[in-house]
Amino acid sequence: MINVTKTFFPPLEDYQKQTQRVWDNQWLTNNGELYKELSLKLKSYLGVNHIIPMTNGTLPIQIALNAYANQGEVITTPFSYVATTASIVWEKCTPVFVDIDPDHLTIDETKIEAAITDKTTCILATHVYGNPCHLEAIEAIAKKHDLKVIYDAAHCFGVTYKGTSIFNYGDVSTCSFHATKLFHTGEGGALFCQDETTRQEMWYRHNFGHDGPEKYHGLGMNAKMSELQAAMGLSVLPYMAHILAERKRVCSFYDQHLDWTKLSKFKLRADTTWNYAYYPVIFPSEVDLLSAKDKLEAHQIFPRRYFYPSLEDLPYINSKTCPIAQTYAKRILCLPLYVDLKKTELNLIIKQLNS
Ligand SMILES: *Cc1c(COP(=O)(O)O)cnc(C)c1O
Repeated sequence: MINVTKTFFPPLEDYQKQTQRVWDNQWLTNNGELYKELSLKLKSYLGVNHIIPMTNGTLPIQIALNAYANQGEVITTPFSYVATTASIVWEKCTPVFVDIDPDHLTIDETKIEAAITDKTTCILATHVYGNPCHLEAIEAIAKKHDLKVIYDAAHCFGVTYKGTSIFNYGDVSTCSFHATKLFHTGEGGALFCQDETTRQEMWYRHNFGHDGPEKYHGLGMNAKMSELQAAMGLSVLPYMAHILAERKRVCSFYDQHLDWTKLSKFKLRADTTWNYAYYPVIFPSEVDLLSAKDKLEAHQIFPRRYFYPSLEDLPYINSKTCPIAQTYAKRILCLPLYVDLKKTELNLIIKQLNS
């Protein structure tokens, strides 16, 4: 069976070496030694200003919205994973969907201003597939209208834009370290921000608002990463060069061998170093996509419709439709992409798609 992705497992000895430290320390969570080491290593590997690793990639979005959105209207993209919209609704805010740019598949920055009202508090946009939004335009709009910018950068581990980490943009950026993502801690994620004041605010929120054992800075919840998660992160991180090289190999193979007369790809934003997070192909129609998917599934190959349905169609959303997101959501299929995906398997996938 070939799935769309396969979790990278570091050698068990590597993980045992890290968990041995946890046993030696007799310390499982709350700012432990491994957590602190992973924070520092990620900060330096990614070249970011501030990082707070957390227990998953959804809580940092909720925490940022909790800090900034004030239960107002949040301008967002319909083309993302459900966590983006669900976090907005969970925080008792109203998602306002702005359609996507058909080339880059990120939120269409030219349509944002028309969606701003006096209730708008934030922009929550996704760098979908690791492809950056139009950062400069969004920053200018946010400045002009005094809005906060949160980037759901769940797909962006290792992505750089204009020579610096993509996580160094926006008031807050978030990433997911889920098992299906590029770098993982089993479950996990992180919040990134640009200054110490913001880091403090977010740190309090992710640890019940504690300012010492008996004093509370404000409202908080629990989003702390445990030592066992950090142990996995420390075991996976040394393999990032290998993981990236393998993913690049698979992407290049698809690039070279797929028949591009009917299929197409999204356009990568200029000045971006990409991380090969996903391999989405765009079909001419949903009928074509479904027939290709059937053919692949008959050979035990399971691509995924990331991201379908378009998020304004969620059962708890009442929004006007976004026609461009609708048409792309119906026509995009993500092909299998992971370390050790064999050439024979790739050839089988390509044969089905090209026929
Ligand atoms: C994976 C993902 C998330 C959620 O991350 P978790 O770590 O699974 O909570 C959020 N947004 C996007 C775009 C994602 O792909």
